[in-house]
Amino acid sequence: MQCTKKILILGGSSEGFAIANALQELPGVESITSFAGRTSLPRKPAGPYRTGGFGGVKGLANYIHSNAIDFIIDATHPFAERISENAAQAAIASNRPIIHFWREPWQHQAGDEWIEVDTVQQAAESLTPEQSPCFLTIGRLELNAFREITDIAFYARTIEPAKADDPNYEEQREWPENFKFIYAKGPFTKEAERELFLKHNIRSIVTKNSGGDKASAKLDIARELKCPVIIINRPPPPKGKTVKTANEAINWLKTEMELA
Ligand code: NAP
Repeated sequence: MQCTKKILILGGSSEGFAIANALQELPGVESITSFAGRTSLPRKPAGPYRTGGFGGVKGLANYIHSNAIDFIIDATHPFAERISENAAQAAIASNRPIIHFWREPWQHQAGDEWIEVDTVQQAAESLTPEQSPCFLTIGRLELNAFREITDIAFYARTIEPAKADDPNYEEQREWPENFKFIYAKGPFTKEAERELFLKHNIRSIVTKNSGGDKASAKLDIARELKCPVIIINRPPPPKGKTVKTANEAINWLKTEMELA
């Protein structure tokens, strides 16, 4: 008799949801998705889930051990460096196979005016007043880098307002007059992005190079409207084995299960 394998999916990307869905259909598999808990969960994954940090490498290794996890799928966002590194180390410590999902970054296309930087801080430093109003699409946790800039109007799009357990909650409760917030969760269509750019007369955009098709419409509209994009380059990929799609992650799991 085949014994059930337990899979830990580290979530935070849309592909994490796709993987959780696909695993519901896979015989001999039980999965649980883990979220950091940064945002309220408007969308629940298929199957069980948990929220909150594990407490570093040791905490994650303990979780793997006490929940008898057999395989780990790291489907976190490509900019979530720490959890991927922790997961890699915890997998080694627990002697469990792990795959890291790492989607392709967006590529510069003809007509794009990209200003590439390596950090959010560098993005803030590169902005000039003629790029006002500026559309910020970097999430909410690192917005403080722009806080002292007074000669640029900002429209910051975040999923929801600051939460009481955010690291910058106190600072982010009050924002200067030149900051306006747009609360929305993707995916966003080209039509919706065009309307937003035109409505607010957007003259520049700051984004992380997240890759994928769920958030790329803003780049199409920036190209169309000749709007400069300050794009934050990817951190290096996790050191272990990586795949670029949800399907590849599922295939990896199937192969590993055959070998186990
Ligand atoms: P991070 O810097 O890599 O991780 C910080 C800490 O958050 C980790 O050490 C871990 O705490 C906890 N954590 C992160 N992901 C977790 C998960 N899936 N399950 C349980 N705990 C998790 O991550 P981040 O950049 O703050 O991102 C947080 C989450 O938001 C990630 O899951 C990521 O996929 C998602 N996200 C991030 C971005 C981004 O731009 N960074 C964008 C979209 C979505 P412990 O050490 O206590 O275990």
